[in-house]
Amino acid sequence: MELFPLMNKNNHEQVMFCSDVVSGLKAIVAIHNTTLGPAIGGARMWHYDSEQEALEDALRLSRQMTYKAAVTGLNLGGGKAVIIGNPKTDKNELLFRTFGKFVNGLNGRFIVAEDLGTDVKDMEYVRMETKYVTGLSKALGGSGDPSTVTAYGIFIGMKASANELWGNDSLRGKKIAVQGVGAVGRYLCEHLFSEGAELFISDVDQDKISSLLHTVKAHVVQPDKIYDVDCDIFAPSALGLVINDETIPRLKCKIIAGGANNQLADEQKHANELRNRGILYAPDYVINSGGLINVANELEGYRRDRAIQQAEGIYDILKRIYKISREENISTLLAANKIAEERLNKIGKLKNIFSS
Ligand code: NAD
Repeated sequence: MELFPLMNKNNHEQVMFCSDVVSGLKAIVAIHNTTLGPAIGGARMWHYDSEQEALEDALRLSRQMTYKAAVTGLNLGGGKAVIIGNPKTDKNELLFRTFGKFVNGLNGRFIVAEDLGTDVKDMEYVRMETKYVTGLSKALGGSGDPSTVTAYGIFIGMKASANELWGNDSLRGKKIAVQGVGAVGRYLCEHLFSEGAELFISDVDQDKISSLLHTVKAHVVQPDKIYDVDCDIFAPSALGLVINDETIPRLKCKIIAGGANNQLADEQKHANELRNRGILYAPDYVINSGGLINVANELEGYRRDRAIQQAEGIYDILKRIYKISREENISTLLAANKIAEERLNKIGKLKNIFSS
């Protein structure tokens, strides 16, 4: 594996390999870009098939964080950590405290949060070794579970998308199919139900469905049939890569707006294909940025009202993306990337003033 060409491909600033035989820690921290501020990103724990796969995941996800922070107007850069291991069997205090020591060594260039395979408890161990960690429990002055703010941001983003397509924010009577009713999907459904939407829900975990049906009315759909639902809006809120060559021809929705990361299997190709089919795609990293907004707020002393207010800003950001997409005849994904890159370029120039 040639390391520098991989880093240079998307201009990554730094990659740190963390190894410790005593704790068994094997981790990679990728810092993509710190133009806007310290890199922030989750620590993902996964049993990767190879070290190359782990590195590529860290590089790809850290770059996405740069764009997410840039487009939402946060003064943060993009980073990501991957810890190689099985989150079900390999977690312990020593592992996360050792990881925390490595994060501390970066002296604030990287701020870590929870991600797939890690949770608030793990971050509390990290906190014992470094202050550069967010996503802590409320008891420790943190923001707790970010999913409520993420879901609220998606709800607001759906309204912006509805406004773009139908000239009206209201989701009353709209048929909305939600794939995955875990933390984010559940709260999203509750907002949509209060608004008067007709819900179609699917989950591979029957307990999640049963629990949600205590608070909302919904049609339950088999997981593999969710793509075929005759609906206005499809909200992928479980796995990534679900918008692909096989599923796109099955979709009957007019809008895709959901919480999952990496929804498009092939970003440019599938963003263009959705556009050609007249399906409005709310770029995933924009519409699900409530989670990042929430943890970013922790850095300044967490206040939920401020986090909610900032998440409401997703409405205007999406409207701007849709306008650029319309006027420049480009996919909504390209339009979002363009806004992020412009901000990075402009603020990057500001950095040079008084630097010598
Ligand atoms: P979660 O694990 O709580 O919920 C995911 C749900 O999807 C689970 O209930 C699971 O059973 C279900 N699921 C898995 N495979 C499925 C399938 N094939 N069909 C239907 N359901 C399926 O996770 P979450 O925190 O709700 O996150 C959901 C998505 O949103 C993830 O892609 C995550 O990366 C993304 N996201 C979450 C946040 C956040 O604040 N939690 C922020 C940004 C992005």
